[in-house]
Amino acid sequence: MLLDLVCPECGRHLPADQLQSVCPACDSPLFARYDLLAAAKSVAPDAIRRRPVGLWRWAELLPVRDERFRLTLGEGDTPMLPMPRLAAALGLRALYIKEEGTNPTGSFKARGMAVALSRAAELGVRQVVVPTAGNAGGALAAYAARAGMKAHVVLPGDAHPAYRLEAERAGATIHIVDGLIDRAGKEAARLAAELGAFNLATLREPYRLEGKKTMGFELAEAFDWDLPEVIVYPTGGGTGLVGMPKAFDELEGMGWIGSRRPRMIAIQAAGCAPVVRAVETGAERIEAWEGASTRAEGLRVPRPYADRAVLRAVRGSGGTAVAVDEAELLATARQVAALEGCLLCLEGGAAVAGLRRVVDNGLVRPTDRVVVFNTATGLKGLT
Ligand SMILES: *Cc1c(COP(=O)(O)O)cnc(C)c1O
Ligand SMILES: [Zn+2]
Repeated sequence: MLLDLVCPECGRHLPADQLQSVCPACDSPLFARYDLLAAAKSVAPDAIRRRPVGLWRWAELLPVRDERFRLTLGEGDTPMLPMPRLAAALGLRALYIKEEGTNPTGSFKARGMAVALSRAAELGVRQVVVPTAGNAGGALAAYAARAGMKAHVVLPGDAHPAYRLEAERAGATIHIVDGLIDRAGKEAARLAAELGAFNLATLREPYRLEGKKTMGFELAEAFDWDLPEVIVYPTGGGTGLVGMPKAFDELEGMGWIGSRRPRMIAIQAAGCAPVVRAVETGAERIEAWEGASTRAEGLRVPRPYADRAVLRAVRGSGGTAVAVDEAELLATARQVAALEGCLLCLEGGAAVAGLRRVVDNGLVRPTDRVVVFNTATGLKGLT
């Protein structure tokens, strides 16, 4: 029930049945638009609940038209784990971790790539490329193999070896660049042009966002269509931060939830905190962070491409953005593993450390229901 693509900045509409990257008028990311009334008529919450597990349960709100193109390795429907000891330690009543580490390839990047590659296959793409700090490359490679496509993965030279190995194992060609994700982004754009490959860089095409938004659907369903008060999200490019509010708006458009929204709290590492800086200074745009450095690779994004959408997600929800030190995110990941048995990735550690900050300064109240995203398994980065 995909209608078309729309630019959230200039309002331009584009046809969805041909390949699109960003808005041709203003370079903003494009958002998929659905016929929500038709979707609401054709499916009810109970029917979705009874479907086979995985993110394709939400097919009416996903862009793939012909189900033969749906790729799956078992992504989505990740556990929502109550964290009673951690809650008590933080002085919270209801705290959950959405454990995205159980996704194929060990991170929530699988959600975005499952949907984006399915849609790309449906639109005739045979070759794909992605610049990545790590997890997106493994996910791209896996789903490309599943689709019978050729994949190219562009990685910074200092990425953890696990990321290169997993993409290589799934048959991708690896390209190493000297520099960070922004440098990898330039190389991916060059390769896309040279090889005629489709570029799946974060928010440079509309459908990874659609896969990531399914976290919002799962959250709404898990809370019986009564959204929690707070979502704590470790933010790099901000796909999930933008995707979840989009999912909530779609559910409201279908009449499944009301207008109340969770406060979106973006957590970044102190060594790369462009979103936090923009929120603190009240800026309209996000400036690139010089000398970005953190071991939490998913957060090492000097300038989120969807900057205005990211800022709207935070400000529009009454949320905020918080940076945590490197030592703190490492220590917190360890503490949570020891306290709850939940092996957080460093980004997840950052999220819990950031939550501690907003509890301490009163932005999150003891009675708020809080969901923290652990965006990947802690295993890939273990040292
Ligand atoms: C990519 C990534 C992030 C950041 O995700 P965005 O939605 O793009 O902000 C966070 N954590 C991990 C483990 C990642 O791989
Ligand atoms: Zn535009």
